Amino acid sequence: MKRVLRRSVLIFIITIAFIGGMCFFAFELLTNAEDWANQPYNAHIVGSGGLAQAGIIYDRNGEILAQTIDEKRVYNDNESVRKGLLHVVGDNSLNISTAIQSRYRSQLTGYSLMWGLNMPQSLRVSHDMKLTVDAKTCAVAYDMLTNYDKKGACVVYNYKTGEVICSVSTYAYDPGAPPEITEENESEYDGVYVDNVLSSTYTPGSIFKIVTAAAAIENIPDIYERTWNCTGSEEIGGSAVTCVSAHGELTFKEALAHSCNIVFAELAVELGSDKMTAEAEKVGINKSFSVDGLKTASGSYDVSNANTNQLAWSGIGQYTDTVNPMQMAVICGAIANGGTPVEPTLIKSSTNELLKSLNLTSNKSGKELFSPDTASKLDELMRYTITGYYGDDLFGDLKVCAKTGTAEIGNGKDPNAWMVGYSQDEDCPLAFACVVEDSGFGIEYAGPVAEAAMKQAAQCIRDQKN
Ligand SMILES: [Zn+2]
Repeated sequence: MKRVLRRSVLIFIITIAFIGGMCFFAFELLTNAEDWANQPYNAHIVGSGGLAQAGIIYDRNGEILAQTIDEKRVYNDNESVRKGLLHVVGDNSLNISTAIQSRYRSQLTGYSLMWGLNMPQSLRVSHDMKLTVDAKTCAVAYDMLTNYDKKGACVVYNYKTGEVICSVSTYAYDPGAPPEITEENESEYDGVYVDNVLSSTYTPGSIFKIVTAAAAIENIPDIYERTWNCTGSEEIGGSAVTCVSAHGELTFKEALAHSCNIVFAELAVELGSDKMTAEAEKVGINKSFSVDGLKTASGSYDVSNANTNQLAWSGIGQYTDTVNPMQMAVICGAIANGGTPVEPTLIKSSTNELLKSLNLTSNKSGKELFSPDTASKLDELMRYTITGYYGDDLFGDLKVCAKTGTAEIGNGKDPNAWMVGYSQDEDCPLAFACVVEDSGFGIEYAGPVAEAAMKQAAQCIRDQKN
């Protein structure tokens, strides 16, 4: 009897272990099979890095960005388009994890759990994808950034529909001929697999004055009646805060247009760390958000341990402040949109059922970042920065509102140049953020990139309407 019992228990344990193992295997298969099948080393799809059966990727105008010809992945025939869109489209490898060909590889190849990669032709639907980007605008922005031979990012998006028209990250390489990165050439390709638009954060410098200005508008009732006298240097919290030159007497509006550090440093200290933190939180500096299911890198505003002088510097985008380029474009888009942003998207349409069911391509309103009143006042201030300071012909006939930034980053490097803003034109509702690392003045380096990308994006949108 005892022996029978012992055998029963043994069989019971073996059965449980077997069922457990089967469950584990089924779970692994269900959750990972797609990745296994799409690995570039899968012998069935070798030769094109897993993209032998992938559909065509088009830009918004139907220009082919990537397609498979005779089982070989072929990219656009223009070199600037190929390099400019490297981080959006991706190459044959999975090195750029945020690129469409990495993120949506199974949708492009038509993988299904039932058939794997071998779905019968009769059941196969087209796996093509149309993106929101304009190849020409991306090529123009890429060429401008490459002229400097600097790392950087440029994004332009339609703040009414959320469609990203331009998204360029440098350094880049040709997806048709990926380089072998060695010790000798690694500086040339530093950070090349990272999409700086989505996944990098930078010291903002003066573009952060938009956030400080919003906090001042909301918390200092007589802000528009005040005047300041900038002498070029001011002792705040025990050490000096300086401007490039003495700005003289300034109103609030002039202080933003001339980007006076002293005024905004004083405002940050007067507002205090709680109100500054509340404003930074409200506009989402410390948060990341989703672009077609992919999280952007979150910026940072943290003055919890800052002394008075550090709080002052935090209000002008220095200290430990960081922001992400896509986030800055969305903040500008929100101002243009009366305070509430539309979430950015890169996918215009797809023939893939799964992608359709993910509902990635519809316009979604985000959370309010500014009250309508604050948005309208910021709009006026940022418009004056162009009309009253830089000159209204900077962006051709576009009515642009903007802010530049020259962010000191230390370590013997030159500043990061920034320009962010948007166009007020009804027919060209475009917001932008451009950054050029280790360069110089915002207007001098980021300005021409922003100008070229905005003019080309506007032309693209206007041509489509005609
Ligand atoms: Zn000043």
